Parts: sequence; C-alpha cells; structure tokens
Amino acid sequence: MSGFLQSVEQQIDAAAFAAAIPADLLARLKRPNHVWEFEIPVRMDDGSEKRFQGWRVQHNGALGPYKGGIRFHSASTLDEVKALASLMTWKTSLAGLPYGGAKGAVAVDPRSLSPRELEALARGYVRAVASYIGPQTDIPAPDVGTNAIIIDWMTDEYMKIVGHPERAAFTGKSIEKGGSHGREVATGFGGYVVLREFLKLGNGVSKLETPFPSVAVQGFGNVGAHIAQILFKKGFKVVAISDSRGALYDADGIDIVKVMDIKERTGIIDRGICYSMGPSQEPCKTFTNEDLLTLPVDILIPAALEDQITAENAGTIQAKIILEMANGPITREADAILERRGVAVIPDILANSGGVVGSYFEWIQSLEGKYWSEEEVLAKIDAQLTEAFATVVAEKKKHHVSWRMVCYVRALTKVACVLRKM
Ligand code: NAD
Repeated sequence: MSGFLQSVEQQIDAAAFAAAIPADLLARLKRPNHVWEFEIPVRMDDGSEKRFQGWRVQHNGALGPYKGGIRFHSASTLDEVKALASLMTWKTSLAGLPYGGAKGAVAVDPRSLSPRELEALARGYVRAVASYIGPQTDIPAPDVGTNAIIIDWMTDEYMKIVGHPERAAFTGKSIEKGGSHGREVATGFGGYVVLREFLKLGNGVSKLETPFPSVAVQGFGNVGAHIAQILFKKGFKVVAISDSRGALYDADGIDIVKVMDIKERTGIIDRGICYSMGPSQEPCKTFTNEDLLTLPVDILIPAALEDQITAENAGTIQAKIILEMANGPITREADAILERRGVAVIPDILANSGGVVGSYFEWIQSLEGKYWSEEEVLAKIDAQLTEAFATVVAEKKKHHVSWRMVCYVRALTKVACVLRKM
C-alpha cells in the first residue's frame, strides 16, 4: 500500500476510534465500493498504438451520486486514486453536499502528447467508464493535468455514447459548453473563504501579528495560481510561488495579477519572470521547491501534489499556518510533528472543498437549465463554506484535537449514520 493511501486509512482509523464507530462499519467506510482498472488504446501521431493505464474508483455513495476529478499524471497509481476517492467522500460530507466520493486517473504526462493525442486519450477514457458514470451516478471533473478543454471533449464523447444532451454528467466544462461561471476560481476562492473564517477566530491573527500576512504558494496551476491571486488582491503579501520546475521568491512580495496576465504562463518560474512589489528593480530570487516549503512566512499553501511535507522537512517548516489546498500534501508523520510544534494545519478536506462546492452549483445549473453569474456562484460558495466552517468550529470548541481530526470525525459520522440505515 502506498504511503498516501496508508496515511488516509490511518486517519480514518483514528477518527473512527474517536467517534466510536464499530469495526464492521469502519471496514465499509474504508473499502471503495467499485474499482475499475483499464487500458486506453491511443493511435499516436506517428501511426503507432500506445496503451495508457486508467482507473476510476467510486469510494462511497451513501450521501448521493459519486463525485470526483480525473487526474492525468505520469506518477498516478491505483493506490493514489483510491486515496483521493476516499478524500472526496469526506470532503463532500463535510461541505454538506448530496454527493459520494470518487476519483479517476490516467498514468500519462499530458505535456508529452499532441493536442490530437490528448483528445483521443480523453475520449478513450470516457468510452472505458461510460457505463458507470452519469448525472445521477458519478459526475467527474478536472484535477491535476486536466482542464475545461479536456472535460469538454469528455462531455461530448459521453453525449455521443448516450445519444442525447447530458451536460450534467461532467463539471468543470468551459462556459461555452455549459460550464459555470466561477468554477475555475472556485477551489482557490473556497480556500480564501476558509482562511478568512479561520483568521477571524483570532488564534491565527494573534499568532501572525500583522494585518498583511506573508504567504508562500507551492504549485501555480489551477488551484495555486487562483488562490495566490485572490490573496494578493485581498492584501496578503505573496512572497513565493512555484511550479514543478522551481520557485520564485521576493521578500517585498510578488505582483500576482501581473504574473497572471502573462498569457503563456508555462515556464514563468524557470524563466525567472517576476514582478516585485518592492522599490528595487532586482529580479526575484529563483530557488527550489524544497526551500519554498521552509521559508519564514506566516502562511504556507501547498497547492501541488501529495506527500510534500514529510518527516524530513516538517521540523524545519517556519509557517504558523498551513492551508492544504492540494490533496494530502502532509504525510501522517509530518502531521504529528507539526501538531507538536503548534503549527495550525487547515486540512485539505475543508480547505480545498470550494472546488466540489463550485462543481455542485455547476451540476444544478446543468440539470435545471439555470444560469448564474460569477458573483452569484461565488456568493453561494461563500455561504456554503462559511456554514461548513462554523459547524467545524462548534465541534472544535468541544474537543481539544487537531482541525484535521475534527473534520474527519464530522465527515465520517455523517456517512456512518446513513450507512447504518442502509
Ligand atoms: P494543475 O495541474 O492545474 O497544477 C498543478 C501545479 O503544481 C502545476 O503548476 C505544477 O507545475 C505544479 N507542481 C507539480 N509538481 C510540483 C512539485 N513537486 N512542486 C511544486 N509544484 C509542482 O492542478 P490543480 O488542479 O491546480 O491541482 C493541484 C492540487 O489541488 C492537487 O492536489 C489537486 O488534487 C488539488 N485539488 C484540485 C481541485 C481543482 O478544482 N482543480 C480541487 C480540489 C483539490
């Protein structure tokens, strides 16, 4: 079993113990309901055929149709998909959504494919899972390495297979193809809402001792770039950003709006493009992702991949708050070290749930032929997450345990209650 899946399962064990969930029910909470493993044949541009490994895991459907993204990443494995599908079950439960948890992936580096090959792979994935997904059964969305263009191809392929319009079968579509305003920024925006509510509690602010907290963001993709931009606009000082190629640092802060305005953002980090907020015209310092994690900042935001903060570097983290925008960025050993050191960790199943909440509102619009503006969608996400956060705070006041433990106990208890009646 991979370290990530083991971490998730150990967390479930610990929360089930705290919530006095019996062993037979715990086994049902851990075990995925369905696991599909398949190969997707793709005719490459040079005429050869290549077969890619793909997966869809439906973890638990007690609360409603399965929901979860599809990841295209060369290092994806079945264990990773199982762990991510499980996180989706707890995330949707905690956010108060009528969904179960699922996840999919293809072991591929999407940057290595031509647009035609990528489209063939996306359509091939849908042909492999078409009988298991649908607007009332399992609704996929984008994740690492996938985006609205890929989801549009997938939706189109699905509709060809079922033979009628069925846009609610996917979320994360482009606006032109029935997507929702606000969905692209939803995960980052949700992270901001959760952080804002957390800072209002006072424990974070008093620790920070500054009205303009400094922030380092690891990963500058859909999630990382949007939360960096939102926090920058709200007055936070974003001093470091990174992608898989490296990191940029400027103690005076980086103008994230200007960075986001660059049309072709791939390679901005290794090209050293940086707009400092400071008076000097010095270029930003380039350095490594490992160094970014241990910078002396108020808030650290891992927004790339799992297993980034481990037993090796947890002792050297200087941030006072970690907002987990990626799924599973902190290993269980690292989590224990951070808790001992008094670092507040806002867990992934709460921090990054804005994405699935945004997806939920896209799903409703697609099902009911509604059309909401970005302002309306973000207001709905704000209200949903503010309420979810308030329920977590109410529990946290009763139990002196970590934020992660409170979130898991709440999420598990809700699913367990429904399973008991099934
Ligand atoms: P993405 O593919 O758009 O971006 C990922 C970013 O991380 C890229 O900038 C990539 O270069 C960078 N990266 C990859 N490996 C890295 C490393 N070792 N160090 C630093 N940067 C690295 O993916 P995304 O959609 O932004 O997802 C990021 C994380 O957020 C994932 O864990 C994903 O599961 C999670 N998440 C995404 C959503 C969503 O709506 N997209 C919702 C909830 C959670």
